[in-house]
Amino acid sequence: MVENERLRQEMRRCEAELQELRAKPAAAPCAGCEHSQESAQLRDRLAQLQLEAAENKSLLSELNLEVQQKRDRLAEVELRLKDCLAEKAQEEERLSRRLRDSHETIASLRAQSPPIKYVIKTVEVESSKTKQALSESQTRNQQLQEQVAMQRQVLKEMEQQLQSSHQLTAQLRAQIAMYEAELERAHGQMLEEMQSLEEDKNRAIEEAFARAQVEMKAVHENLAGVRTNLLTLQPALRTLTQDYNSLKRQVRGFPLLLQEALRGVKAEIGQAIEEVNSNNQELLRKYRRELQLRKKCHNELVRLKGNIRVIARVRPVTKEDGEGPEATNAVTFDPDDDSIIHLLHKGKPVSFELDKVFSPRASQQDEVQALITSCIDGFNVCIFAYGQTGAGKTYTMEGTPENPGINQRALQLLFSEVQEKASDWQFTITVSAAEIYNEALRDLLGQEPQEKLEIRLCPDGSGQLYVPGLTEFRVQSVDDINKVFEFGHTNRTTEFTNLNEHSSRSHALLIVTVRGVDCSTGLRTTGKLNLVDLAGSERVGKSGAEGSRLREAQHINRSLSALGDVIAALRSRQGHVPFRNSKLTYLLQDSLSGDSKTLMVVQVSPVEKNTSETLYSLKFAERVRSVELGPGSRRAELGSWSSQEHLEWEPACQAPPAAARAHSAPGSGTSSRPGSIRRRLQPSA
Ligand code: ADP
Ligand code: MG
Repeated sequence: MVENERLRQEMRRCEAELQELRAKPAAAPCAGCEHSQESAQLRDRLAQLQLEAAENKSLLSELNLEVQQKRDRLAEVELRLKDCLAEKAQEEERLSRRLRDSHETIASLRAQSPPIKYVIKTVEVESSKTKQALSESQTRNQQLQEQVAMQRQVLKEMEQQLQSSHQLTAQLRAQIAMYEAELERAHGQMLEEMQSLEEDKNRAIEEAFARAQVEMKAVHENLAGVRTNLLTLQPALRTLTQDYNSLKRQVRGFPLLLQEALRGVKAEIGQAIEEVNSNNQELLRKYRRELQLRKKCHNELVRLKGNIRVIARVRPVTKEDGEGPEATNAVTFDPDDDSIIHLLHKGKPVSFELDKVFSPRASQQDEVQALITSCIDGFNVCIFAYGQTGAGKTYTMEGTPENPGINQRALQLLFSEVQEKASDWQFTITVSAAEIYNEALRDLLGQEPQEKLEIRLCPDGSGQLYVPGLTEFRVQSVDDINKVFEFGHTNRTTEFTNLNEHSSRSHALLIVTVRGVDCSTGLRTTGKLNLVDLAGSERVGKSGAEGSRLREAQHINRSLSALGDVIAALRSRQGHVPFRNSKLTYLLQDSLSGDSKTLMVVQVSPVEKNTSETLYSLKFAERVRSVELGPGSRRAELGSWSSQEHLEWEPACQAPPAAARAHSAPGSGTSSRPGSIRRRLQPSA
């Protein structure tokens, strides 16, 4: 089809060309040929020359005009000259008249003079009277002579003037002659120029005409050549038309061919798709099987890890630890196993195995991450910091502005995870802060922090617990959380003069509730995150404390042992879990039971002087952990946790058994422990 189309186009083009060629000789003979170009040039040149001739003509007429002007001026000058001459003639006439008059006067005066002489003589002889008349006559004579002289002077001047007039006339005549000659010459020149221009023009026209004739001849010759070409092209055109017709026939049959080919290809594609489909089905089946397997493995892993994890965190040696042998480091780590901690107590090495041990340089962010995910998924989570005062509980939970603790990091993680899920889920996060001191529960965010709160069963019969009056703040960012923390701190600080002392004797709880709604299914989840900074675990009571100190110690011991009991009961999956034995466990009941997850961070001081408390804390931790796997597991040999006991070392009289290390002496734990522990001062309720 493409070839067909191409041929069709070519034919159309040829036809158009032919048409054009046919039309050419009549309309515009050989446009663009060399001769026609030359002819055009010649025509241009002719036009140019005509233009030049016209210019020359205009120049000539200008010159004519100038000559005319000059002629006019000459006539004017001649007229003026005639006037001047007439004037001169008049003047001459007048002067010669005056001269004649003067001559006459002189002649008459001369004729008069002899009688006057006579008169003089007679007067001389006759009288003085006559003398006087004589002198008068003489004066008169004198005057007349002066007058004659004057007249002569005037005459002379007149003659001079006449002479200069003659000269001027001669000059003017010469000038006129000169002008006339010049005029004659200019006229001659002009005639000559006109003649030559006329000749130039005629010559140029003749030349152009001759050239145009030659060109025309050449053009005619070209045209003849083109005509012969055209005659030779006609057979080619005929063959092209034939080709075109045969192609047309072929094209008519093409759709049938194409349909057949398409049918074949379609069948092939269908077959291929079927094959791919069956492959996909197989892959999907395999994938589902793998997914189930993975889920099973994950569940198994969770079961093995347990819902209660116990980790230890060793704080660095600080300035407050002082100097000397008491402040030397007594804790070391296993380079190959991050769940082992070694303690040198009174010269004897003791080892413990927990879920994980963090050295002073480590952070426990990884531990927190998984718990936060669980909380968002709707599980309840408890994180406890346990240990003697000064072991770093508050540092781990709250941290410093530069190095924020679990509280801050957990909430940051919470917010970022909530944000990640924001497209599908809507979350509401609320925060409460409370404190348990001497078994009294107080709201740290309330208007009246002194008020003691009670824990009650929900009236809806769901079995859930709640604390009437406990303030809940809705938070939307880490900034909000910081404001809540600050507010809680201010409440605590204004309440107690010695905050450090007080805080080590009370449990501080931060309760974060995460409520989520799945936007697509409407499914609702509620997860609670309880962050607990426990009271110091050191045993004050035993050293003979009295009064309020003793009471505090009793309360702390009771609540910590109750916590131990609850965890033990949960781990050994006992039917009865003694949640109600302390406010702490009662409050956290729903966050400790069921599918809840718990992280116990046991804080350890590394220095020599604290080794007894450290040993005690680590024993507590290991026991909590050992119970988890229950009888029959590899931890069973350590002995079961007594829910009625808060076990305590007596460091003064008993060294801890070396076999306390969980994995070092299987089966020996039970026998090694009883001698070294004694019953708590106060039996639990
Ligand atoms: P607790 O709350 O158990 O009584 P703190 O958290 O108040 O103990 O810690 C006691 C001291 O030790 C504080 O000065 C704290 O800054 C410091 N400290 C605790 N843990 C660490 C640590 N991991 N790194 C640095 N300093 C720490
Ligand atoms: Mg503290």
